[in-house]
Amino acid sequence: MSVVDRQEWDVVVVGAGGAGLRAAIEARERGARTAVICKSLFGKAHTVMAEGGIAAAMGNVNAGDNWQVHFRDTLRGGKFLNQWRMAELHAREAPERVWELETWGALFDRTKDGRISQRNFGGHEYPRLAHVGDRTGLELIRTLQQKIVALQQEDHRATGDYESRLKVFQECTVTRVLKSGDRVSGVFGYERESGRFLVLEAPAVVIATGGIGKSFKVTSNSWEYTGDGHALALLAGAPLLNMEFVQFHPTGMVWPPSVKGILVTESVRGDGGVLRNSDGRRFMFDYVPDVFKDKYAESEAEADRWYDDPDRNRRPPELLPRDEVARAINAEVKEGRGSPHGGVFLDVSTRMPAEVVRRRLPSMYHQFKELADVDITAEAMEVGPTCHYVMGGIAVDSDTAAARGVPGLYAAGEVAGGMHGSNRLGGNSLSDLLVFGRRAGRYAAEHAAGAAGARPRVDDAQVDAAAAEALRPFSAEAEAGAGTGAVAGTGAGAEAVGPPSGGAPENPYTLHQELQQTMNDLVGIIRREPEMRQALRKLAELRARSRRAGVEGHRQFNPGWHLALDLRNMLLVSECVARAALERTESRGGHTREDHPSMDRTWRNVNLLCTLADPDDTAAAPESGTAAGPARGRIALERQTTEPIRPDLLALFDKEELVKYLAEEELYE
Ligand code: FAD
Repeated sequence: MSVVDRQEWDVVVVGAGGAGLRAAIEARERGARTAVICKSLFGKAHTVMAEGGIAAAMGNVNAGDNWQVHFRDTLRGGKFLNQWRMAELHAREAPERVWELETWGALFDRTKDGRISQRNFGGHEYPRLAHVGDRTGLELIRTLQQKIVALQQEDHRATGDYESRLKVFQECTVTRVLKSGDRVSGVFGYERESGRFLVLEAPAVVIATGGIGKSFKVTSNSWEYTGDGHALALLAGAPLLNMEFVQFHPTGMVWPPSVKGILVTESVRGDGGVLRNSDGRRFMFDYVPDVFKDKYAESEAEADRWYDDPDRNRRPPELLPRDEVARAINAEVKEGRGSPHGGVFLDVSTRMPAEVVRRRLPSMYHQFKELADVDITAEAMEVGPTCHYVMGGIAVDSDTAAARGVPGLYAAGEVAGGMHGSNRLGGNSLSDLLVFGRRAGRYAAEHAAGAAGARPRVDDAQVDAAAAEALRPFSAEAEAGAGTGAVAGTGAGAEAVGPPSGGAPENPYTLHQELQQTMNDLVGIIRREPEMRQALRKLAELRARSRRAGVEGHRQFNPGWHLALDLRNMLLVSECVARAALERTESRGGHTREDHPSMDRTWRNVNLLCTLADPDDTAAAPESGTAAGPARGRIALERQTTEPIRPDLLALFDKEELVKYLAEEELYE
């Protein structure tokens, strides 16, 4: 096997977005020799795209803010399904993480008296998002990168080698977490440019690979979001938590088709933008759910007064949590009151002077001007829901970020589940990745130090198997011709699905497109049982066909090969989403069932855990799809009751509010 590079590190961080970089900095500062490995160029991670800001209760703009209020907002936004301990740590530690960024050189927008400015966002009671115009993610990554370079310079002074204690491997994709017995022993991956293989041995691995949005057709997510980290953890034996919760951001671009899904930041509404239908009506007043009725304005006049006098007026309903706004837009379009290109209107042009729009929303101004030829200072934008964020993710310990069941594996950032419950509030991701990135780096470094005398050895057979798996697309054509590549349903009682064995090789790009269309149409913003069953059958068919996904040429920068390798991960996470969505017979947060439209208190404390049905993942998994039932696939589901919320945290809410969320027995306790 052509393993080109085999190196030993203490901690390997997979992903160089906000979570990965913050973890790497912490691990290195705690003495661990740390490698960071990322699929894209260093500095180009998805975090760069974050626009609105970092949520942290610093109380700079309204002194009424504090961690308890932030905690309350986060639980309300997540409809009380959040891992409450994560939400507590997040709310308590976020301000410290923002101030720390400033000491590392981040240049935030300021208030008139020189403090870090904070802006309004949906679901946050007070102005809470520390920001840099609408380019906050860029500043965050720039600052963390600068910190990494500073640490490397320090290491150079001490050892003569910049990369002796902290090294970045860019444009490398990890395809397997390696294990020795139960424990993590390293990672296997390939260099995207050369196609050569790479093994980094380490007793601790932090997964920080972000989300899964590329499994949906309309998405705000970048090309990297193929659910790799979710799949890596599953394949290594760690469960995924509550994967049914996918956030559809209410405002993505809808026109022209080539840019459909690109995000229109929530800052537009936070700074005064309003949503109107084709009748010119501010329709959000018609969609305030009962649980939020007392917190949102009932008239346009009150809503407009709130921007200047938030203490004596209630918030505009445009600032409801994202799931509520996305559903409302969906309903307006369905009722025939949409904009010409199938969205609704988002208007700032009548709300603030042109120079204020250009100053406060510079990226949005340029985005619409350049991509849609729309001047947002003079006319309304057309917007509609877009797949944006996954709340589900790797099940982790709240304090240590350790992945459940796999010693040495850690996860932070969007790839980790639990923090946001059924729906994330805007701004809570950047703070999440700073808080838990730091924690993951700390505990991974401690784990590695503990393993110093007895490092787990990398098993050569696993490396060979990982290499063979990665090379499979190059022999798919031959396999397909020989009739071995398309056999599905080798398990007892399984049926053949998809095209017959021995079919023609499949184009990975076509499979991506079919998968994205399936998830968009059948497991999207509004879900129905027959459609989800149909999705599971289609996924089983795609899985069978993906074994024949073939590529031509060689391993040097071969995008077709990369697409073929991404398919395994996209299919796994898509099945998790579809199976969990079918199982949860209620509507909550980012999961809306047309056939079960209400939130059901008996589901409040139920988590759904996905594991690999066939842990021997090198074997062809049994699968079947019939017209009557869902295809039996690779994912097993388990229900697990959550730990009761700590009484002092429950005491932060009024009893009348808790009655809306908690089950009878929880209230009684
Ligand atoms: P990322 O930043 O995506 O980093 C993932 C890293 O993993 C990348 O380096 C990637 O190359 C690497 N990777 C992936 N797979 C592999 C693999 N197999 N092998 C090696 N490396 C791999 N949130 C907020 O809180 N506030 C905002 O204002 C905000 N605005 C947003 C605007 C947009 C347009 C979008 C799309 C999202 C926004 N979000 C915002 C959400 C937020 O940006 C993300 O949730 C967050 O940046 C995720 O960070 P991360 O570190 O978990 O992952």
